[in-house]
Amino acid sequence: MTSEIVSVIGGKEASNGVTYESVDPAHLDEVVARVRLADPATFSTACRTAAAAQREWARVPAPVRGRVIASIGRLVEANAADLARLVTREIGKPYAEALGEVREIVDTCDFFLGEGRRLYGQTVPSEMPDKNLFTFRVPVGVAAVITAGNFPVAVPAWYLVPALLCGNAVVWKPAEYAAASAHALYRLFAAAGLPDGVLNLVLADGATTFEGLETALAEGTVHKVGFTGSTEVGRAVGELCGRHLQSPCLELGGKNPMVVMPDADLDLAVEGALFAGFGTAGQRCTSLGTVIVHESVHDEFLRRYARAVAAAAIGDPSGEVLCGPLLERRFADRYEEYLGWIQSHHTVVSGPVGRITAENPRGDFTGEGGLYYHPVVVDGVRPDDRLFLEETFGPIVGVTSFSTLQEALDLANLPGYGLSCAVYTTDPASVFRFREGIGAGMVSVNNSTSGAEAHLPFGGNGRSGNGSRQSGMWVLDQFTRWQSMNWDHSGRLQKAQMDVAEIVPDLDFRL
Ligand code: NAD
Repeated sequence: MTSEIVSVIGGKEASNGVTYESVDPAHLDEVVARVRLADPATFSTACRTAAAAQREWARVPAPVRGRVIASIGRLVEANAADLARLVTREIGKPYAEALGEVREIVDTCDFFLGEGRRLYGQTVPSEMPDKNLFTFRVPVGVAAVITAGNFPVAVPAWYLVPALLCGNAVVWKPAEYAAASAHALYRLFAAAGLPDGVLNLVLADGATTFEGLETALAEGTVHKVGFTGSTEVGRAVGELCGRHLQSPCLELGGKNPMVVMPDADLDLAVEGALFAGFGTAGQRCTSLGTVIVHESVHDEFLRRYARAVAAAAIGDPSGEVLCGPLLERRFADRYEEYLGWIQSHHTVVSGPVGRITAENPRGDFTGEGGLYYHPVVVDGVRPDDRLFLEETFGPIVGVTSFSTLQEALDLANLPGYGLSCAVYTTDPASVFRFREGIGAGMVSVNNSTSGAEAHLPFGGNGRSGNGSRQSGMWVLDQFTRWQSMNWDHSGRLQKAQMDVAEIVPDLDFRL
């Protein structure tokens, strides 16, 4: 039976708006959920509701909020298989990866439940006697969190868990095509005992969200925006926030390079390039964009890579496959445009291109009923190709070659993104030169461009984001603001910089 899901504001269902059907991309005739999309006023109402609930939530002691995070972790763990199955059904992510994604929420809760007992401020020495200085972490207020659907539960949890732990209320707007997974995650959070209004779920399309956010920012009911999605929309959200003197957390697209040095373990590099390029059908923000391989091993790498891609399992994401369907029709249409960027100077080394059908099969697999595409490896990409410069969200990887490490670094940095990257080498000197020269926020050595851990900073630079970081202790600076306090108990007005005791040195002293 297909469920109908609606926004939840202040613990109550807000059932207005047009209906959107979230469809299983592996079985396009199956509707996973009918989603009622909210209007802009519903979004801004949710922000007002959150602002009212936040005051009480901030007064709940942080260790008690930490216990709520602990309960969320337990609930997610106990429901892991069901949640992962729903993710697989709704966006076509292979089940093993969906289960890993759910595990990441548990890991995030494990980290932040303890933060409830830390959330340290500092005591700081004053330059004057009988005066004490302190710092406190203060919640920002209401966080509006807007997320993409390729990681429909883990990436939102990277925002929701620390934001709530720090004493903020949240209005969460997930991607429409991942609404059922989002709704399930919302219910798990609510079951942990969050008071009504502290977490609100608004199901809406992008344009509506923008309008609702514009109103909420003008009304002063949003104090932090967390946005994960495309560079283009991130830029618009960043501009809007800037007008309200707010610095959002922007986690955007990537064109992630992998550099293969002449001394690399080629089989390991091929394994990494296979998972990075085609896991989640190449629809991760950290998916591999271009392999930049040393000219001396280019031909051998390409031969092995093409062989590995040809042997990779593609099919029903509930089975053991590397690659399932694309997330949703919109992504399939856009991916077909990217395929149009393949030019005559390129060589496709992976076989057929395009949608897998009875007329264009992959062996026995005809892709019937689903949004399945052939994985594509394109050799000979050039620095001025769109294929080299732009994110191509989908199962396509470019290959080019280099002669010196500096040349490889220049190529790797050229597209101007800066999310993730990888280098394959056995030479420590190359590792450190690569790390120093690359503009990415995350560097993998002899590992795939994908695979974040819940307690390392995650985030990008340039076209990949505004330098904000998620995960671990670093995200606390997104969801709290530092407040300093000085307390003078001398009983007189001591003036900073003026009433300071001086100890006079003999600076002419010499041995
Ligand atoms: P998108 O920017 O189109 O949408 C992302 C979210 O923003 C969705 O919830 C969407 O409804 C909403 N939205 C769309 N237009 C909006 C607007 N004008 N105002 C406010 N909200 C709006 O992104 P997408 O194509 O759905 O997702 C894929 C992109 O997300 C890729 O570029 C991918 O690399 C990126 N991504 C980045 C990360 C990261 O952590 N850096 C993680 C996952 C995905």
